[in-house]
Amino acid sequence: MKLPIYMDNHSTTRVDPRVVDAMLPYFTVHFGNAASRNHSFGWDADKGVEAAREKVAKIIAADSREIIFTSGATESNNLALKGVVEMYAEKGNHIITQVTEHRSVLDTAKRLEKAGINVTFLPVDKDGVVNPDDVIKAITDKTILISIMLVNNEIGVIQPVTEIGEIAKDRGILFHCDATQAVGKVRVDVDMMGIDLLSFTAHKFYGPKGIGALYMRKKNPRVRLSPMIDGGGHERGVRSGTLNVPGIVGFGKACEIAEDEMADESERLVKLRERLRLGIMNSLEEVYLNGHPSRRMPGNLNLSFAYVEGESMLMGLKEIALSSGSACTSATLEPSYVLSALGVSAELAHSSIRFGLGRFNTEEEVDYVIKRVIETVNRLRDMSPLYEMAKEGINLKDVSWKKD
Ligand code: PMP
Repeated sequence: MKLPIYMDNHSTTRVDPRVVDAMLPYFTVHFGNAASRNHSFGWDADKGVEAAREKVAKIIAADSREIIFTSGATESNNLALKGVVEMYAEKGNHIITQVTEHRSVLDTAKRLEKAGINVTFLPVDKDGVVNPDDVIKAITDKTILISIMLVNNEIGVIQPVTEIGEIAKDRGILFHCDATQAVGKVRVDVDMMGIDLLSFTAHKFYGPKGIGALYMRKKNPRVRLSPMIDGGGHERGVRSGTLNVPGIVGFGKACEIAEDEMADESERLVKLRERLRLGIMNSLEEVYLNGHPSRRMPGNLNLSFAYVEGESMLMGLKEIALSSGSACTSATLEPSYVLSALGVSAELAHSSIRFGLGRFNTEEEVDYVIKRVIETVNRLRDMSPLYEMAKEGINLKDVSWKKD
């Protein structure tokens, strides 16, 4: 086993060597501009792009003509929300989303709000799940778009998108889904799920960074979008700019591999995740699982370790790449807004760690992480006066902290 161990696969993933091999010729041999129509360099690049487009479409059960290549899911989310709002302005000015979306949806929605659009941010329950009845209640005759993610990036919870898709369809409202953490890991079928627009990105499932896609339904209904980037009219005029050919080819290869291996990989990751969860929770007290116990994607585990600060834990586990539930900003250390939305206290949110298991993690690595987490939590708790007080039976909520 080699150190350091990478267990932060929701943040990004290592590019699969098979993906690198597929990309390499497109840097050096087939390096043409896919939009060059008059020579073989252009034709070869275009052939690579179109073959990849088929594979990218297949992983979400779509048609290749429904795929718009972008620079990643941030851009896809921006394009979906802003593009719909601008295109359908005459139809209405209300959109619905929910509080644990990724920043690229939330901040886009907030910008639109500033520009005069009405936005409903739905709550989630204590497990992080949106209630489809809340979606129904929020709909008005001005609603033009519902945007709900498939899998959350912090707690791995899977939202009831099929139910929400049906609600949207019945009322003739467009449904956008940020499936960035889901594609390549759980089955996605845009028809079955009633999705009209879907964002995803290659680097979350062993493809390269800087390449993503927006699925845009072509019929029942035919979705139209105002472009956010004007220029040469690439990608059917929706997203201009010279195509990132090696990135697209790598994206296609990553989809092809995921398509073939998803079932076995999911099973393996669930086993590793449960090994990690039980290994930690059976040896340490006051460890809490964040997010739904079963409605979650295979590689995700999010735990709060009471009386231990997440950042201190990460400092003590420098040879393991993990993520904490605190967002360091210049002046404050804010608890994760996702955990806060679940009703997790600020203390427990600051004590949370996200474990993101992926294709290249092994059982041996999991066992090492279990051992090091137990050691580190015990060491930090031994130094914690709060933990000592709690052990003595003092209810910390009743303590009044006096400053002389
Ligand atoms: N949505 C979700 C749910 C994500 O996890 C991420 C990446 N952290 C994004 C969108 C943004 O993706 P990209 O890095 O491709 O811009």
